[in-house]
Amino acid sequence: MYADKVIEQVIGWRRDIHAHPELSKHEERTASLVAGVLEGLGLEVRRNVGGNGVVGLLKGLRRGSHPPAPATPETRGDLGGSIKYKTVGLRADMDALPLNEDTGLPFASQTPGVMHACGHDAHTAMLLGTACVLAGMRDELKGNVKFIFQPAEELNPEGGAPGMIREGVLDDVEGMFALHVWPACETGKIAIRSGSVMAASDRIFLTVRGRSAHGSRPDQGVDAIVIAANVITGLQSIISRSVSPLDSAVVTIGTIHGGYRYNVIPDCVKLEGTVRTLNPSVQDRMPEMITRTARGIAEAMGGTCEVEYVRGYPPLVNDAELAGAAREAVKDSMEVIIPEQPDLTAEDFAFFARERPAVMAWLGCRAEGMPLEGAPMLHNTKFCPDEGCFAYGIEYFVRSALAFLNK
Ligand SMILES: [Zn+2]
Ligand SMILES: [Zn+2]
Repeated sequence: MYADKVIEQVIGWRRDIHAHPELSKHEERTASLVAGVLEGLGLEVRRNVGGNGVVGLLKGLRRGSHPPAPATPETRGDLGGSIKYKTVGLRADMDALPLNEDTGLPFASQTPGVMHACGHDAHTAMLLGTACVLAGMRDELKGNVKFIFQPAEELNPEGGAPGMIREGVLDDVEGMFALHVWPACETGKIAIRSGSVMAASDRIFLTVRGRSAHGSRPDQGVDAIVIAANVITGLQSIISRSVSPLDSAVVTIGTIHGGYRYNVIPDCVKLEGTVRTLNPSVQDRMPEMITRTARGIAEAMGGTCEVEYVRGYPPLVNDAELAGAAREAVKDSMEVIIPEQPDLTAEDFAFFARERPAVMAWLGCRAEGMPLEGAPMLHNTKFCPDEGCFAYGIEYFVRSALAFLNK
C-alpha cells in the first residue's frame, strides 16, 4: 500500500497530536507541527489561514497532458498566457473537544479537560502521511494537490471552514476529498455515499409572550403556556405538512421554561430547539416556515412569539460523480460500502462541499473483532480509532487525488 513507507511516522504524529490536544481556535501547536512537515517536503505553505488553518500546495510535474492540447485562450483557466492546471483539495481538521480522556492509553491527553475524541488527530496525521506519499510522486502528478488543514471544526455554527474559504483557499481548487474515522465500520472498510451524507444543524430560540392573570380567570389574561403548547405542535406539522415526505427534516424542542406558580397564568415562555435538514433547499425554507407558524399561532391566540433562527453548518452533500470515482479508485485496496442512509450529525466540511464538488468518506476504524455493541463512538471519552485504519485512509486520499488529477 502507498502508506507502507510512512506509516510509522504517521502513527508517531498521531500519538504526539493526541497527547497534546487543542480546542477549536487554539490549534497553534498542531498547526505548527503540520506546517513544519509540509515545509520539510518542499511544499508552498501558508500559515494562519482563517485562524490556525494551514495550506500546503504540491505542484505536480507531469504537465504535458493537462490541459489537453492544443492550449488556446478558450482552454479552461488559460488566461493571459499562463496555463492553470487542475488542483485537487484534500482536507483534514485539527481541533479537539472539551472532554476528560478516559482511554488509559500511554499517549493519552496531557491536557486535562481536552481530548481528541472525534479522531481529528488521526485525520491530520493521515493527511500528513498522504502529503509525504504524493510529494514523492510529483513526477506522476498531472496537476496540483492542495493540503487543507482546517481549525475549529467542532465550533458549530461558526466553524473554521468559512474563514479559510474567505481567504481564497478554494480559488484554484476544482474538487475536494475528506474523510472521517467511523467506528460503526471495521478497519479495512470505507463507506462512501452519493448525495446527502450529513445534516444541517441549526438552532432556534422562541419567546412566547402573553398577559399574566389569576389562574382562575383565564379570560383576563393571555396564557403563554397554552400558546407555547400550540406552537410546539404547530412546528411538528411543518415537518408533516410543509416538507416533502421524501425529504428528511427534524424539529426538536429541547427546552421549555415558563411560569411562576401553580395558580398564575404566565406571561412568558421560552423555548429552545434544534432543526436538522438534509436538503439545502429545505434548510433555506425552515427559518421562514418556523417564524410564520410560531408567530401566526401566537397572534391568533392574542399573544406574540419572537423567533431567533441561528443557521449552523449546511447539509453535507457528496458529489455523485466524485463519490463514484473515489469508490472506483479504492475498490481494489479495501472493502467499499455504500451506506443506505445519511447521518444526522453535522460537519464543517459542508461549507467546502457547497462551493466545490466534494466527497466525505467514512473510514472504518473499529478494530477487527471488536463488537459494535459497546464500542466507544465519536465524542466518547473512551473513543480511540484503530491505528490499523490509517493506511487505508492514506490509500483513499492518494488514490482519489490521482484519479481526480490523472483522469
Ligand atoms: Zn466531532
Ligand atoms: Zn469530527
